[in-house]
Amino acid sequence: MTQITLPAAAERTALLGFSDIVKIRNRVLELKQTGAKVIQLEGGEPFLPTPDFIKDAMKKALDENHTRYAPSSGIVPLIESIRAKLSAKNSIDVQKDQIIVTSGGMHGLFCAFQSTLNPGDETILFSPYWTPIKDLIRYCGGVSVRIPWDEVGAGDMHQTIASRITPRTKVIYVNSPANPTGKVLSRKQMEAIANVAIEHNLTVIADEAYEDLVYDGSHVSLASLPDMLPRTITVFTLSKSYSMTGWRIGYVVADRTFMDVLRKIVLNSINGVSTPTQWAAAAAIADDSGYLKRVLPEYRSRRDLLVNGLNESGFACSPPAGAFYILVDARQRLGGDSWKAMEELLSRTGIATVPGVVFGPEGEGHLRMSYSNPMATIDAAIEGLRTL
Ligand code: PLP
Repeated sequence: MTQITLPAAAERTALLGFSDIVKIRNRVLELKQTGAKVIQLEGGEPFLPTPDFIKDAMKKALDENHTRYAPSSGIVPLIESIRAKLSAKNSIDVQKDQIIVTSGGMHGLFCAFQSTLNPGDETILFSPYWTPIKDLIRYCGGVSVRIPWDEVGAGDMHQTIASRITPRTKVIYVNSPANPTGKVLSRKQMEAIANVAIEHNLTVIADEAYEDLVYDGSHVSLASLPDMLPRTITVFTLSKSYSMTGWRIGYVVADRTFMDVLRKIVLNSINGVSTPTQWAAAAAIADDSGYLKRVLPEYRSRRDLLVNGLNESGFACSPPAGAFYILVDARQRLGGDSWKAMEELLSRTGIATVPGVVFGPEGEGHLRMSYSNPMATIDAAIEGLRTL
């Protein structure tokens, strides 16, 4: 008999992991299938549906037959509305050819790391960090160099970063407002990052996915700081701001050195985002009805409600300044192993959370809870915490 050998996957794919958050999602689904009631604080999505004016723009685009190939970098009306928004809101003044439309923030980040890192290059990032970043770095053959968020608050930012720089340092990844900590970096801290980047000729990948969810302080775009545009790749997404997680659309802003490369990667990976989705995104960004201002208080009141409930139940925490997560220290109430703490909380109260350790070793002993939820869900969670 002839021996049959099976084909193998490309070796570099071994560098990619599979999100632990997906494992938790599957666990929650399993539980729900048994009929159990689950209070879902593990997610990472806006609690509101996509607003009607965006859905209407999509319907109009379909009716007008905007259904053919578009320029792979993005349709002109969208690029124009992004350019106006960047200037007015982010103080980033760019030409149209310094903007590219991507399939969400995730794709923008993938392209950004692929454009910058050679094998062996180091990326400095603050930890706990959004889990996929580690894989995006590894997939380029890059190395993550973690700085605990605790050090960021405590010391001199410039010194904190400079002490991690080696001859292989290439990129600083900055996510503010941050997932999972909810931290928002101040202008002074951003200036310190910019100074280190300029002194050491580093590229900054600025992940501004949560730019519209800031409750205390204000959002500062690194690319708006003096001399930073040529060395910053800024990744934006419509997912969180406009409740458009499933639409898969975002955009990246960069100067020409990187933009030329980004264009090639976008062309060769997706050849552009779905055309009608781009028309809907143009309507979202051009909106002047105050949608973003209206939703912010909704998030803030949910944050305050959950923070109070946690404190009442012995999970000491203060209100995070941005995004829609609380990274709760669970060590006193549930022990130091965050996977066990997640399981215990889930089985005793039905509250689903994400173990902090999936966001890096600095997250161990913590649980990430999302307050982007209906008020009734947060009330149920607080009730559950009381029974612990
Ligand atoms: N960056 C951060 C920090 C995130 O938390 C997310 C999503 O959760 C993204 C980027 C990417 O979002 P999307 O791919 O939905 O645009």
